[in-house]
Amino acid sequence: MSRFFSKRLNRLVPYTPGEQPKDQQYVKLNTNESPFPPSPKAMEEAIKEEQRLQLYPDPDVSALREAFCVQYPVRPDQVVFSNGSDDLLNFAFIAFCDDETPAYFPDITYGFYPVFADINRIDYTEIPLDEALRIDPKDYVGRKGTVFLANPNAPTGCILSVSEIEDLVEKNKDSVFVIDEAYVDFGAESCIPLVSKHDNILIIGTFSKSRSFAGGRLGFAVGCESLIADLNTIRYSTNPYNINRLTIAAGIGILNDPDYMRKNARTIIENRAWTTEKLRELGFELTDSYANFVFAKSSWIGGEKLYLELKKRGVLVRHFSKPRIEDYLRITIGTREQMQILIDRITEIKTEEES
Ligand SMILES: *Cc1c(COP(=O)(O)O)cnc(C)c1O
Repeated sequence: MSRFFSKRLNRLVPYTPGEQPKDQQYVKLNTNESPFPPSPKAMEEAIKEEQRLQLYPDPDVSALREAFCVQYPVRPDQVVFSNGSDDLLNFAFIAFCDDETPAYFPDITYGFYPVFADINRIDYTEIPLDEALRIDPKDYVGRKGTVFLANPNAPTGCILSVSEIEDLVEKNKDSVFVIDEAYVDFGAESCIPLVSKHDNILIIGTFSKSRSFAGGRLGFAVGCESLIADLNTIRYSTNPYNINRLTIAAGIGILNDPDYMRKNARTIIENRAWTTEKLRELGFELTDSYANFVFAKSSWIGGEKLYLELKKRGVLVRHFSKPRIEDYLRITIGTREQMQILIDRITEIKTEEES
């Protein structure tokens, strides 16, 4: 830290992204990326922009919003895009939290929420997950503030049903519920249809997971017109050109090819079921994950040790040194071949531990 760094921020602890190692080729199961490339339509559309890169992109991102509304039951003024959904989560903290409206989220959830609260100097309360590492909706009734829930939750993969969320939204009409649906396409149900009925729910989505576009940086928020207008106030006050032309064009290609995304999501769901069964046979306990990862704890080795042993053998997974979950690993679901390598390596480690 330089002696010039703002005193307002000198206790800020930045988010720690998953490792992106360059030293060797790993079977990379640590950042929930897709093992598949994006739809070929992404590049087909992006290449057409080549001759227009001297021009700023459309700050309203109209063409992309219109393509979105062909796939989802909302109007263009009910959706806003940004440079990854992390950007929009940050905007939601800025727009919908203040001293009277602090943030509430689970104690075990996406690690970026407390960082966004801190950088914007917003108070927050972390509400413990229950014994089974699940969100208990009752804990979020009567909170005077803005609630952030990942559904499926990260890193547990557990879900709330749309009716449980709608019930919360109805019982707490003066609180905004921000529902982060980064993993919704892997078997959960989206709350997007609720935005036409309720003015206090905001859905955040991303192209980084099921749409295989983490490197393109594209996320969206869906809500009633006035919530979306507020997010645009923040976006236009920071960087209205924050989605580049290539990404906008590729995003349209991706939206126009929903079958490709669904097919890949089905493959991940099948591979998740296979991996879950194999890990159970190897003595693991798993949460009921509806995401493109499993969250697993073994009866015969600690989480950090298993993470290190796997890394030595060329398999990268995510470990969190946090009370209650330090013996768990979050393992991204990749191709069947990748999952077979994971299971083979764990089997080797188990044989060594037992000898
Ligand atoms: C991956 C992820 C995101 C988002 O990412 P972007 O790449 O910024 O769109 C948001 N929320 C959760 C819970 C995630 O796991």
